[in-house]
Amino acid sequence: MTWFKKKEQKIEPVPEGERVVRTEGIFVKCPECDAALYKRELEESLQVCTHCDYHFRMGARERLAMLFDEATYDELDAEVVSGDPLDFVDTKPYKQRLEQAKRATGLPEAVINGHGRVGGFDTYVAAMDFNFLGGSMGVAVGEKITRLIERAIRDRAAVVTIAASGGARMQEGTLSLMQMGKIAAALALLDEARLPFISVLTDPTTGGVTASFAMLGDVIIAEPKALIGFAGPRVIEQTIRQKLPKDFQRSEFLLEHGFLDRIVDRREMRATIIRLLQFMVNPEIKVAPSPVFAEAPFDAGANGNDPDSKLTAEALRSVATEEREPEDEKRQAREGLKSEV
Ligand SMILES: [Zn+2]
Repeated sequence: MTWFKKKEQKIEPVPEGERVVRTEGIFVKCPECDAALYKRELEESLQVCTHCDYHFRMGARERLAMLFDEATYDELDAEVVSGDPLDFVDTKPYKQRLEQAKRATGLPEAVINGHGRVGGFDTYVAAMDFNFLGGSMGVAVGEKITRLIERAIRDRAAVVTIAASGGARMQEGTLSLMQMGKIAAALALLDEARLPFISVLTDPTTGGVTASFAMLGDVIIAEPKALIGFAGPRVIEQTIRQKLPKDFQRSEFLLEHGFLDRIVDRREMRATIIRLLQFMVNPEIKVAPSPVFAEAPFDAGANGNDPDSKLTAEALRSVATEEREPEDEKRQAREGLKSEV
C-alpha cells in the first residue's frame, strides 16, 4: 500500500525555450570584457562599462540629457523631417525605411536639436543618433544643424555637436552631400562672430559627417576607442592594396596623428565641455550680429549686446579686440593719462 499518492498527474514540463533563466532586460554583457553588467548600474555610469571603461553607444536624447544643466533643454526643429525627394527605392522604399526608423527609435530624425544651459552658458547642442538610419545625414539633418548654428549666432551662444553617423544619406543622393557645404558655411559665420564650436566625435563618426562639420570644431573631442574616419578600412585596403595598421581609425590613433585635441571619458564629458566654455566664452565681449542675420529678430538687449550698435562685419574685428580688454585696465589707463596731463 502506498502512503502517499499524487493527486494529479505529472507536473507540466517546462517548454524547451523557457528553461533558461530570463536575465535579459536586467543584465547586459560587455562586448569588450565579457562582464555581466547590471543595467541600472550601466545607466548610472552613462553607459560605460565599470570594469573596462568600454563605451556603449548612446541615444541622442540621453546625450542631450547628459550634457545640459539639470538634464533640461528645449527641443528645437522637431518638425524638420526628411521628405523623399528622389522617390528612392532600394530593397524597400525610402519612405517605408523612414517610417520604420521613426517607430523604432521614437525620434523624428537622425539628429535632435536642444537649447539650454551647459554650466550656466547659453548653448545649442545637436546630438546624432546612430539608431536612426545609421545616423545618416540627409537634407533634414543638414537643415537642423544649420538652423541650430544660425540661432547660436543670433543669440551669441555656443554650439556643441555630438556626431554618431555612417555619413551622408544615400537615399537622398547628392542632396545629402550638399549639406556638408551648407553646414560648413554656417560654421564659417559662427567663426566670424567669434563664437565657440565644440565637436564631440563618438562611435562611429564616418563619411560625410567626418568630412564636414565634425572635423571643423574649434575643439575636437572624441570618446575612447571610437571609430572615426572617412571611408571604411576595407574600402581603403582595397584601394591602396596595403594592409592598414592596427587600430587605424580609432580615437587613440587619430589623437596621436593630430586629428583630435583630446580623448575624453564620457563620464568626464560634461565637466570638460563646461571647462572649455569657461575658457572660450567671454560674456563681456560686445559684437554686433553678423550682417546675414541683421534682418532676423535680434534681441540685442537681452544678450548683453549694445542695442544701439550699428556695426558692419568689417568693423567687428576691431571692436571685438577692443572690447576684450578688461574695463578696469582701460579705466586705469584713462586715469593714468589724466594724471599725466
Ligand atoms: Zn567591460
